[in-house]
Amino acid sequence: MNEHVRVDTQPIPFIDVAAQRRRLGKTIDEAVGRVLNHCQFILGPEVRELEAALAAFSGARHAISCASGTDALTLILLAKGVGPGDAVFCPSFTFAATIEPPALLGATPVFVDVEEDTFNIDIASLERAVLTAKKQGLKPKAVIPVDLFGLPADHDSIAEVAEAEGLFVLDDAAQGFGASYKGRKLGTFGHATATSFFPAKPLGCYGDGGAIFTDDGELAETIKGLRVHGQMPGESEFSHLGITGRLDTIQAAILLEKLKIFQNEIEARDRIARRYHEKLGNVAIVPRVPDGYTSVWAQYTIRLPKGARDGVAAALKAEGIPTAIYYAKPPHLHEAYKRYPVADGGLPVTERLSHEVISLPMHAYLDEPTQDRIVEAVKRALSR
Ligand SMILES: *Cc1c(COP(=O)(O)O)cnc(C)c1O
Repeated sequence: MNEHVRVDTQPIPFIDVAAQRRRLGKTIDEAVGRVLNHCQFILGPEVRELEAALAAFSGARHAISCASGTDALTLILLAKGVGPGDAVFCPSFTFAATIEPPALLGATPVFVDVEEDTFNIDIASLERAVLTAKKQGLKPKAVIPVDLFGLPADHDSIAEVAEAEGLFVLDDAAQGFGASYKGRKLGTFGHATATSFFPAKPLGCYGDGGAIFTDDGELAETIKGLRVHGQMPGESEFSHLGITGRLDTIQAAILLEKLKIFQNEIEARDRIARRYHEKLGNVAIVPRVPDGYTSVWAQYTIRLPKGARDGVAAALKAEGIPTAIYYAKPPHLHEAYKRYPVADGGLPVTERLSHEVISLPMHAYLDEPTQDRIVEAVKRALSR
């Protein structure tokens, strides 16, 4: 390797939110302006319009917007009466927000291992976790599969286990909204789905936001009441404990504009992911998308031999290229969560992955010269 090769070290963003802002520019300003003019800041017309558009996009019968992805998960579990004594099965190779809602409701999250090639919930470990929960006197109540980094979990296999064990399935599609599994979009699997519109997610707003998808009309009505403090539609009495869980009208107006270009952005992300595959497939373990699945590439995450990863991250940083480690320390090892049980057999894959993974810059506006710079920097770092 030529030590004197001159490299561009101009800093690049990990996710270029500004590039999309430039593309959408005036349409967003106008959409926000309309809300400022009609002043219906809470549950205004854009909120209902967005909910109809989200339902149509996903294929789910009902879409209910809410204040964040975490609130989406919480509202669903609250509606299902999840609480003390209930076991809720969650992968530990995920963001802490998957685990937080069942824990806050007093239920017991039970950690499940993941598959090393898809990063998603491992069915054999889920089955072991159900036994683990029963042995501890917990009632197996729900499973929260995560569509990690934008790739759907194996929803058919999860449904089989759920049916056999009587589990409610809550899909955490905070990273996966827009992706599909065997021809159907996320939002239509399990009993309900939660997503997030945090700005860095594939479909993000300009603040916090989220949504719930379900085909169950009764559940949808309950959730609509719970997101306004438990005041059920048409009732003056507070019959349920709820939260302030609404999406602001301004965020709904922004999301309506962004949803119009979302499919096009998903295609751009997929093109960029394929290019990473081609160029890095022989120097690192690149993510696998099983047949019949599509990913929205919330992250493009490769695996490097243990020990090489941190050096590569440092070398890229020195060249102005940001990377991220999702997840360097899985939730079951954190102070807040380490008291909760893990599936019999432990979480060996989760713990190994946490030392191997590194996520590269990924967004719909990553141009080829910039992507080539990233690829060359990774190769150079690995050949040192
Ligand atoms: C982002 C995220 C959430 C939470 O979404 P917020 O909108 O930030 O509350 C939940 N689960 C996963 C897997 C996430 O990535």
